[in-house]
Amino acid sequence: MDFFPTEEQKMVQQMARDFAEKELKPRAAEVDATRRLPLSVLKAMADLGMMGINIPTEYGGSQSGVVSYSLAMTEIGKGCPSTAVTMAVTNMVAEVITAFGSEEQRAKHIPRICGGEYPSGAFALTESTAGSDPSAMKSVAERWGDEYVLNGSKTFITSAEFAGVFVFWAKTDKNAGGGGISAFLVEQGTPGFKIGRNEEKMGQRGSPTNEMAIEDCRLPRNALLGQEGEGFKIAMMALDGGRIGIGSLAVGIGLAAIDYATDYAKNRIQFGKPISSFQAIQGMIADSFTELEAARLMVLRAAYLKEKGVRFTREASMGKLLATETANRVCYRALQMLGGYGYIKEYPVERNARDCRVTTLYEGTSEIQRLVIAREILGGNYV
Ligand SMILES: Cc1cc2nc3c(=O)[nH]c(=O)nc-3n(C[C@H](O)[C@H](O)[C@H](O)COP(=O)(O)OP(=O)(O)OC[C@H]3O[C@@H](n4cnc5c(N)ncnc54)[C@H](O)[C@@H]3O)c2cc1C
Repeated sequence: MDFFPTEEQKMVQQMARDFAEKELKPRAAEVDATRRLPLSVLKAMADLGMMGINIPTEYGGSQSGVVSYSLAMTEIGKGCPSTAVTMAVTNMVAEVITAFGSEEQRAKHIPRICGGEYPSGAFALTESTAGSDPSAMKSVAERWGDEYVLNGSKTFITSAEFAGVFVFWAKTDKNAGGGGISAFLVEQGTPGFKIGRNEEKMGQRGSPTNEMAIEDCRLPRNALLGQEGEGFKIAMMALDGGRIGIGSLAVGIGLAAIDYATDYAKNRIQFGKPISSFQAIQGMIADSFTELEAARLMVLRAAYLKEKGVRFTREASMGKLLATETANRVCYRALQMLGGYGYIKEYPVERNARDCRVTTLYEGTSEIQRLVIAREILGGNYV
């Protein structure tokens, strides 16, 4: 067992850290206030190889592996969670196409994702009546000759308004439950594919979360990703990997909050002393760093297993559950350490707490992670 990152992993982590410090952190409050993510930042990240960290170089990726991806995601999450979630979804889409796409689909889309020609990818699974239970989706794809005709709607789709390509799920067999779902690749601007409003959110406000309406959208047969009926499996496999990304991101937000609060505690004087000299505050610092470190190790283990080609469903869900719940607790503790100032927008911890909140909701709520973990354990996938 080796806990030391490789030279390449250290390099990717350092590059992401430098980028986050220089380019993201100074603008994070503005991104939150204006709800606008500069697309030039996403392009700069693509140029640094961050939109395809675990993608083979033959498709324009960095091929640096899943551990590197997790380390980079934590750094970007520290700097700007809205940017980090965009990076997470984009890497996830690139990986889904790498894993399930035809050679034609890979050659067309992956270099554009990794190179930044597409500002991002999007993952269009959720519907208003199908959140935790995607098998209840109502979007349909009917075969007409050499085409599929798609109808339906999606909700809460990250980056839909600027994504270059969507993985879009619809039922090709309405009577087959999850087994009737298929996945498609749809390009931005395809007729019949309409992007709706950007939801007004509590946090991660720079990352657009759009509604979508799909009306008689005609796609050629080669837009199908994988086989008909394989969509549910594709979504679940993608989400396993995605959970490593969100766990890593959450660790980053928690670290940003507690780093700030720790510095604050060294300088804030009450009762004639820095508040960091009080044991109650020291306990908050110690607990926060300890819990975040445990969560980070669990997420990195899931990343390591994925990189080694070992089944990692249980570890990814455990890592996401622990990291997101821990990071939320740490953000609230950090806010408490700032006293009343923690509640004021001028201080970043208020934003950290808002940005962190969604991490226990998307890519499977904490309750769904517990279902997955229990299913894996009860099914004997426990070593
Ligand atoms: C900011 C944001 C960005 C998002 N981005 C995307 C995206 O890019 N693509 C995409 O497809 N989706 C996206 N989502 C959707 C997200 O994945 C869903 O919101 C999430 O899966 C939960 O679904 P729901 O909101 O419909 O909640 P529901 O499924 O209605 O759940 C409501 C509550 O019931 C609980 N619950 C549900 N089923 C069970 C059960 N079996 N056992 C115990 N408890 C249960 C849940 O844990 C939750 O507490 C995003 C959501 C948000 C908020």
